[in-house]
Amino acid sequence: MERTVRNRSHLALFGVALALLALVTGIVCAVTMQRGEAVSNDETERYLSELTLQTSLKVNQRVSFNLELLELLGDELAVVGDGGDGDRAATIAPFVENGPFAWVGTIDAAGVLTVEGREPRCLTGVAVVDHALAGEKGVSETLVPVFDDEKGALYAVPAASGDPAAAAVVGWVPPDRMRMLLNTDTSGGLGFSHVVSSGGDFILHASNENAFLKGDNVIQSLAAQGRFEEGDLANFQQGMAAGESGHVRFVVNGEAREMNYTPLAEGGWYLLSIVPPHAYTSSLADYTAFSAATTAAIALLAFAAFGGVLLWVTGKKNREILRIAYEDPVTGGYTAARFDREVTAKIAKGRPFSFVSVDVRNFKLINDFFGKEQGDRILRHIHDAISSLLADGECVARISSDVFDIALDETDPDRVDAWLERLADKANGFNREGKSAYLLMLNCGSYAVKEAEDVVTVRDRANTARKGAGDVSGRLFRCTFYSDPEHERLLREKEMENAMEGALESGEFVVYLQPKVSLETGETVGAEALVRWDSEDRGLIPPDEFIPFFERNGFVIKLDLNVFEQVCRLMRAWMDAGLEPLPVSVNLSPLHLQMPDFLDAFEEVRERYAVPPRLLELELTERVAFENLELLRRVVDDIHARGFLCSMDDFGSGYSSLNVLKDIPVDILKIDRMFFSSDDERARSVVSSVVELAKKLDMGTVAEGVETIPQVDILRSIHCDAVQGYVFSAPVPIDAFEKMVFGEDGGEIHP
Ligand code: C2E
Ligand code: CA
Ligand code: CA
Repeated sequence: MERTVRNRSHLALFGVALALLALVTGIVCAVTMQRGEAVSNDETERYLSELTLQTSLKVNQRVSFNLELLELLGDELAVVGDGGDGDRAATIAPFVENGPFAWVGTIDAAGVLTVEGREPRCLTGVAVVDHALAGEKGVSETLVPVFDDEKGALYAVPAASGDPAAAAVVGWVPPDRMRMLLNTDTSGGLGFSHVVSSGGDFILHASNENAFLKGDNVIQSLAAQGRFEEGDLANFQQGMAAGESGHVRFVVNGEAREMNYTPLAEGGWYLLSIVPPHAYTSSLADYTAFSAATTAAIALLAFAAFGGVLLWVTGKKNREILRIAYEDPVTGGYTAARFDREVTAKIAKGRPFSFVSVDVRNFKLINDFFGKEQGDRILRHIHDAISSLLADGECVARISSDVFDIALDETDPDRVDAWLERLADKANGFNREGKSAYLLMLNCGSYAVKEAEDVVTVRDRANTARKGAGDVSGRLFRCTFYSDPEHERLLREKEMENAMEGALESGEFVVYLQPKVSLETGETVGAEALVRWDSEDRGLIPPDEFIPFFERNGFVIKLDLNVFEQVCRLMRAWMDAGLEPLPVSVNLSPLHLQMPDFLDAFEEVRERYAVPPRLLELELTERVAFENLELLRRVVDDIHARGFLCSMDDFGSGYSSLNVLKDIPVDILKIDRMFFSSDDERARSVVSSVVELAKKLDMGTVAEGVETIPQVDILRSIHCDAVQGYVFSAPVPIDAFEKMVFGEDGGEIHP
């Protein structure tokens, strides 16, 4: 993203410069055209030299640009270093894609050429390669074949010092990719150039239709096809061999030609510029146009070359920035970005490993107390301790302030635990003599990565495990191993299934009582029995964690009856103690309703304790009403027939409507706490009409889950009968309830 923006601004700059350049070039061209009018016939010689000069400039520029490209690549490769063939190939690829080279490769000190996707090849003895190995860049003197019969120009530069894997960088350009002579022909197509070796071998043959010469070597072709003045051909040949420039005339295919030969900058190459003699006089316009075009072309080419180099340099800088992004300034180790790259690769390989997340307990305190500098030192120390325990292929990074992520090849929890123990030990090594004021305690979470997952998920899970890390238990670290919640739930349920019967027998299911307080008198007028599981292993478990499961496995039937029995026993005790018993309600799971005569069991218990049924209230949830209104009505009738009270629990929480009320003659309506969770007017007016309607149907009303005094005031104002909620009391153990109700002051409970 950032990079595209930067590139875009480069492009804009580039565009502006290009426009300026075009303007200047336009002016130069116009001036040239004007001056061209004045050029007289006898300046033909100059015309040819001009052609030669311009073209050779262009060719030289092209060749040196190609060499520069290879040098740039050399620099890049030195930076990548021996980071695996993949990285080197990835660095080379854009050079091939965007440059003139058919392929680019590197040569090691022994002269062996390595090109991605091809067999290695020994190039010792190839002059240009030998020179590069000796520290000199250049291009081959003639076209050379490397991988097959096709010939091309071989460019070679010494590798950048510091590259561990290459001594030279080479690129190969076949003639069809050489663009050296692009747009150098005169506009009439009469003047053109060839590039040849000093021995006359064609490097690049002009594709101009007037280029009659055939064959691979210009001297041989001229000898066969051209007519020269005495000795001229020999002079030309010797001149080129001696590195001189010169001029020669000849006739080929019946047409006269003037030719300049000029040595080029690299490879001992020559530029041959050829024009017909009449071209300079009759094609003055051509010349001026040519000259202008050439100027423009050269200017543009130079600029393009500059732009190209600029882009490469920017790319290089970007890579530099990337490198900075890959090194954590505090620890000197990986950053999260770098770590994620490694871990993604690790996941892709498919071998299981552990993703461990570690943080330092109370690191903030250490930081505050000893200062940031010391804090950083400690982080570096921990990082080094982790690094020193890593095997090959494992890695670590500091992810955020004091959180480290580690990829360990071990997945067995015991071994990971042992590894962490060693780490905690090592991290506290400086503290062996107890000189330091603090201990480094590590919180760890580990997640075993076994299948293809993304880093984000993996890290999340390790973090989840770390945050849920259990007790330290006297060690310098604690570690939790992640397992998914669904699996955890199944495990817990299995545990409960195994324990429930025994727990029932040994009385682990205990009854808590929550008072119901009259709004008229402020007295406790009853209570609801709410069960808790006082588990030996897990402590006090709230009903929401086991009732839903017991409703699925049916155990709730036994449990409800047990709660009911505990309540009956309690009432018996109250009565035996001469206390005025308060009515208590118990919850009935909807599951009971599926068994006809389930009330027989309840009645049998009640009789056993000889509790008056009017003191016992059975709560049915309105869920039942939704499922089967007819059945519900029958059950309510049966409850009444046996003398119990009956209430509708959670009214308004779900599906039932006010309509249900008139069909189901319950004694008490328990208005769900949902109504009191928000403070809005609508809910209030609904409650008000519900209370009103209940009154008309001769039902008592209990508002559940009331938490504030203003709510109590409103409920009192709309004549709700009673409130059961934290505002008065949470559910409490029986002895606490008894103290509250039958205590010294007679049991009045005030808000
Ligand atoms: P419930 O029957 O609606 O019981 C009322 C729940 O609301 C109780 O949660 C109680 O602690 C809670 N509560 C009371 N006042 C307030 C308050 O002011 N604010 C809030 N936020 N909550 C309040 P508890 O004891 O956790 O029971 C949860 C549910 O478990 C009960 O809801 C009931 O459906 C079920 N349950 C409890 N005991 C039994 C039982 O013996 N048998 C059956 N079948 N279900 C039971
Ligand atoms: Ca209830
Ligand atoms: Ca309720």
